Amino acid sequence: MTTRVGFIGLGHMGGPMCARVVGAGFDVTAFDLSPAALALAVLGGAEAAESAAECAAAADVLITMLPGPPQVEDVLLGSGGALAAMRKGSLAVDMSTSSTELGRRVLEAAAVRGVAFLDAPVADALKASEGDLHIFVGGEEADVAVARPVLEAMGKPHRVVHVGPHGAGYTVKLLVNLQWFVHAAVAAEALAVGVRSGIDADTLYAAFAAGPARSSFLENEALEVLRDGEYGERFPLGLVTKDLGLALDLARETGVRTELSGVTQGLYDQALDKYGSTAGEMAVVRLYEDLAGTPLRLREANGR
Ligand code: NAD
Repeated sequence: MTTRVGFIGLGHMGGPMCARVVGAGFDVTAFDLSPAALALAVLGGAEAAESAAECAAAADVLITMLPGPPQVEDVLLGSGGALAAMRKGSLAVDMSTSSTELGRRVLEAAAVRGVAFLDAPVADALKASEGDLHIFVGGEEADVAVARPVLEAMGKPHRVVHVGPHGAGYTVKLLVNLQWFVHAAVAAEALAVGVRSGIDADTLYAAFAAGPARSSFLENEALEVLRDGEYGERFPLGLVTKDLGLALDLARETGVRTELSGVTQGLYDQALDKYGSTAGEMAVVRLYEDLAGTPLRLREANGR
C-alpha cells in the first residue's frame, strides 16, 4: 500500500519539497493557509485538504514546513488540531526550523496519542527543487526508517542524516545557520574595511575566497551581492532573526558563553530595524555597505 503523506506549509521551501514528494509517487494531501500556495501544490498533483486537521487525519506520515515555533505549535497542538486528528501508529515529521523546547512538548502530546514524532529541519535551500536538501533528523531509529523513503524524495540518501535523539535535528540545524550568519557578518566587515583601506573588492574577494578565510558564504551567496547586487530575499530577515533567537536560547540552556553569537544577533537586529523583516538574509552586508559608505561590488558587477 502506498504511504499517504500529509504536507502542511507550502511556502518557499514547502512548495518545492511537496512537489518532490508527489514526484516520488506518494499520495499527497496538502494544506496551507494561503490559497495560492495550495493551488500550486494541487496543480503539481497533490490533493487539497480544507484544514490542517483534515490533512493530518489522512496521513501515514505528516510533514510540517512552517515559519517557526508559533506556527508549528498552532498547527500541531493548537487551533490547527493536526496532532489530535492523527491516527494511532502514524508519524509526524516537523521539517521547520523550530525549537527543541516546543519539540519536547509535541513529542509528549504525540506519545499520548500513539503517534511518533521526528524533527527533521533542512539546509541548502537552493537545492530544494532538485531534491538535494541536507536533512538533519532527530528521533528514534525505527521512526527514521519509516520516514526515510519520504525524506529521500527531498534529500539524497547520504544527505538525510540521523543526527541523534529527539531535538538533535533542530539543534544541528540552528548551529549550522548560526555559523553561516557569523561568516556572512565577518566577511562583510572584512570586505568593508578592506575597500575603505583602498584595496579593490576583486582583489579582496579573490584573497578571501581562495585562502584560509574561505567559507561557504564566500564561495556561494556572497557572489549574489558582490556580482549581482542581490541580497537573498528568498530567506527573509524575519526568519534569520527567528533562527538567531532560537540558537541563542539553545546556547543559554547549555550554559556555554556565546559572546560572538550575541554580537552577531545584534548586527542582524540592526539590519532588521533598518531594512525590515522582508529584506534578504544578506542585509547584514548592506548594513556594512551603508556603514562604509560604499557598495561592495566586483568589477564585473560595475560593467568595467
Ligand atoms: P514561507 O514563509 O515561505 O512558508 C511558510 C508557509 O507556511 C506559508 O505558505 C504560509 O502560508 C504557511 N503557513 C503559515 N502558518 C500556517 C498555518 N497556521 N497553517 C497552514 N499553513 C501555514 O517559509 P519558508 O521559507 O518556506 O520556510 C519554512 C521553514 O523552513 C522555516 O522554519 C525556515 O526557517 C526554514 N528554512 C527556510 C529556508 C529558506 O531559505 N527560505 C532554508 C532552510 C530552512
